[in-house]
Amino acid sequence: MSTKLVDERRLQAKTILGAFDLPLGGTVSGVAHGGSFVQSGTGAPIETRDPSTGEVLAHVLTAGEDDCKLAVAKAHEAFKSWRLVPAPHRGEVVRRLGDGFRKRKEDLARLISLENGKVLSEARGEVQEVIDICDLAVGQSRQLFGREIASERRDHRLVEQWLPLGVVGIISAFNFPVAVPGWGWAIALVCGDTIVWKPSSHTPLISIAAQQIFHEVTAGTEAEKVFSLIVGRGGAVGEALLADDRVALIQATGSCALGDRVSAAVAKRSGRAILELGGNNAVIVLDDADLRLALRAVAFGTVGTAGQRCTTTRRLILQRGIAGRFLDQLVAAYRTVKIGDPLEDGTLMGPLVSSEAVRDYEEGLAEIHRQGGKLVYGGTVLAERAGYFVEPAIVQSTKDMPIVREEIFAPILHVFEVDTLDEAIELNNSVPQGLSSGLFTTSLAAAERWLSAVGSDCGIANVNVGTSGAEIGGAFGGEKATGGGRQAGSDAWKGYMRRQTITINYGSELPLAQGVEFPVD
Ligand code: NAD
Repeated sequence: MSTKLVDERRLQAKTILGAFDLPLGGTVSGVAHGGSFVQSGTGAPIETRDPSTGEVLAHVLTAGEDDCKLAVAKAHEAFKSWRLVPAPHRGEVVRRLGDGFRKRKEDLARLISLENGKVLSEARGEVQEVIDICDLAVGQSRQLFGREIASERRDHRLVEQWLPLGVVGIISAFNFPVAVPGWGWAIALVCGDTIVWKPSSHTPLISIAAQQIFHEVTAGTEAEKVFSLIVGRGGAVGEALLADDRVALIQATGSCALGDRVSAAVAKRSGRAILELGGNNAVIVLDDADLRLALRAVAFGTVGTAGQRCTTTRRLILQRGIAGRFLDQLVAAYRTVKIGDPLEDGTLMGPLVSSEAVRDYEEGLAEIHRQGGKLVYGGTVLAERAGYFVEPAIVQSTKDMPIVREEIFAPILHVFEVDTLDEAIELNNSVPQGLSSGLFTTSLAAAERWLSAVGSDCGIANVNVGTSGAEIGGAFGGEKATGGGRQAGSDAWKGYMRRQTITINYGSELPLAQGVEFPVD
């Protein structure tokens, strides 16, 4: 980068950060107990960088274990009154939160592009997702209903009700710095829970900005103390959150390795966890597919967010009749992808999030090569420019290569050829993860087989839609090593409440269930 470009970029970064009163290169607090930021972070400070240039954006004071304990104590205290606020009134707070994000959508989207590196259109979509889930949660706040079940006993009523759960600890990944934690905030808040949020150390400024928005809309209200932020390292502050038995639920988004850690730590204290972990998602294209649709879906699924989505298409399974033609078209489409500054119009692929992510990309490709995979396209680190830019890569792989079972969190696509749908389904289901999957076909019979009990084993199974880009109305999550958790819409709210089964006797006898007799006077 020339000196002039460096200066221009600094000015741009300064303006973007300025929208949230964050000084470029300055020191800011990543700890907020109940709304107001505190300067006494006891964790080691971290640097956050612009992945497009590698330049330091700010130094962030992080939380230590004591800050975590204090945040949980405050959230626990706040829960005592928040749970008594009528749910539709809690919904009103979430409506204002959605409006807060609406008002700051552009500012926050630009900050996401700057610190996370996703292109502006996707960053706007990410903020929109928070707004959408807030809208959904407002309606949900009037629909937290139980059910009445027919009792076998005369003059008895058998009902289920749902009650607030307690403190929810939200651990989030860098790649969706506000949308995925936002699914949790909005639903947990209408459910009557309070929140301690530990975001990724790669995106602390985005979380500080989100916390500011929260503070702006709740200051002086009964919701002022229900939301705390603890930026900090996973191994320190994250572990403290997992171990704290005042945290009723951990919502954890991250790698499968994180899931193993969360499962073990939370099970040890018989806590509850919603796990949203890594994916290894496949698209299958059959000979009878509309290739135009499939091509667009695969291009977005593989290159979108620079291959850093949990739902990124990592495996492409082509039926032999169209395989050669489709691959040629995909390579041609890849050649048109503009890689560059995520804040610039027309850029389709920004940088990876960090230098470690670039190293993972290089090491992943080297291992694929060692195991016999053949590079078809890309595979180069764009070292001539500053920042963490790479080319998207396509490799021809075979199903017996151990590495195809792993999620490499970078834009690397494995391509396979198969003869039949059943062979494709077997390959789709052959990996440890089970998040998202898509089949492209015009055959009703093939589509229905794909959606049947012998079809995709993933939490998300699409037809003529790619693996990426879910709507918030449905429950989101995956099976197997992806963790089994569900978030966002549908009945995911039940994960944030406790269920109580109630039997009421309004008669003058005490009949026992199953006709059991126990005659004592
Ligand atoms: P990561 O696992 O490195 O980190 C995720 C979060 O866990 C971070 O906040 C990190 O600080 C924290 N953490 C790390 N170690 C911890 C510990 N011992 N205790 C408590 N917290 C700890 O993941 P990442 O690189 O930020 O994100 C990418 C991963 O997230 C990918 O595997 C991706 O598939 C997954 N992801 C999944 C979903 C989903 O919904 N299934 C969504 C987004 C991302």
